[in-house]
Amino acid sequence: MIRLLPALLLASAPALPAQATDQRVYQFEDLQLAIELPELEDLRSSPVSGDQLRGRWGGKLGAHQVLITLWSVPRQEWGLTDPVEVIDNIAFNARRSEGGEDFEFDQRSLLAGPFGTLPYAGFAVSSDWKGTEKIRLHYYLGGLAEERGYSLRVAVEPPPDEAVRERLMTFLSTGVRYSGPGEDPAWTDEEAEARWERDRPEELQGKLKIFRTEHYLIFTDSSSGKLFGKKMEECYDRIQQTYPFPEIEGRKLMPVFLFRTKEEYVDYYVKIAGNTKAAAAESKGHSYRDYYATYYDAPNDPVHVHEATHQIFSNRLGLSGGGSWFQEGVAEYMSTSHNERKAFAKGAAKRGGFTPFREFVEIPSLLGSAKGQKDVKGGSVAGKRYTQAASIIAFLRESDFGAEKFPDFLTAVGGAERGRKGVERAIQGVYGVGLEQLEAEWVAYWKKAR
Ligand SMILES: [Zn+2]
Repeated sequence: MIRLLPALLLASAPALPAQATDQRVYQFEDLQLAIELPELEDLRSSPVSGDQLRGRWGGKLGAHQVLITLWSVPRQEWGLTDPVEVIDNIAFNARRSEGGEDFEFDQRSLLAGPFGTLPYAGFAVSSDWKGTEKIRLHYYLGGLAEERGYSLRVAVEPPPDEAVRERLMTFLSTGVRYSGPGEDPAWTDEEAEARWERDRPEELQGKLKIFRTEHYLIFTDSSSGKLFGKKMEECYDRIQQTYPFPEIEGRKLMPVFLFRTKEEYVDYYVKIAGNTKAAAAESKGHSYRDYYATYYDAPNDPVHVHEATHQIFSNRLGLSGGGSWFQEGVAEYMSTSHNERKAFAKGAAKRGGFTPFREFVEIPSLLGSAKGQKDVKGGSVAGKRYTQAASIIAFLRESDFGAEKFPDFLTAVGGAERGRKGVERAIQGVYGVGLEQLEAEWVAYWKKAR
């Protein structure tokens, strides 16, 4: 669940606090958090009231004005289970505040350190522009305490030079210290059992087996949990090689529900995701919220790497934007071969028969948009759209046009708001072209593909 937060991060210059102070260390007992401010000239603070804004300080670093704020919200109410989600919420709220529709982060990553119950923080940077001039920079750090999530935000104006940037990064990486109890990244057995009891279909009482791998927690009633865990790790490795992302210590294992039979899987899908029985029965696996659920059939089925990609993009990378074409594209690229993509894309590039990019990026669900539709030759429209999406990712990752900036493309489009406007702006920012030109490059690439 996401709630609106009063935004003080956009357009107009934030006023600096009025009261001079020389106190630099602050303790927040309910968060079990200590903050040591950087050495600022003319350090000021202002009293804060209310539940969410917890601290507000300002000062100068040479010619730069610096404003620091600390916010916190209850974890349970906001559904916060990972520091990445604190950062997601900042973008979500910024886009819904006045003048913030076009909000994007310039950069996102994780910082390792004693930031909360899990030993890392979400980190992001954004810019404020006045015409073509960058006038202000914002840094965001998001972490989890036991009961509450928090974000520490730093606004700098004008944007920092290298020396100021370094001092602020030192503050963000060393000025925050959490001293409360940690969470077990591997889940405690009680925690895992409680999750199973909450979510399992009724008929599976007392049948739980739990297997842990390096990145996954497998809940199962089948005898194949161990083997399946191995397969999931192989998927993880392939995904990480294709879309490189850093490993950071202490991340929570990702839950996988592996059912013995298809019937049990369908019951679970209907119970948790509220899908109809008929729709659930058409799938072999699905990822939703933090989990992946499937049933034991063929461990090498491409569905597993496809769904594992969805789970990693949302649960690990915080890249759940861009729209259905992007999400299905990165997943389907993992579960198809070059020849499968070429069989569609080469012909489509030569003779037409693909969905124009401007229309394609706006489709809310590639699957739902074409339910049951067949084209003139009797192929499924949804199937072609999946392959088109994969062929766009293949083109960007493998072509001279796209390869070098492919990692930037993933971050920018995966972090962009769904819809044509956000996607086009992100692509423009990375590749310097609009959607029509991107489509022309895609056509030229696939026409020549071997
Ligand atoms: Zn998918």
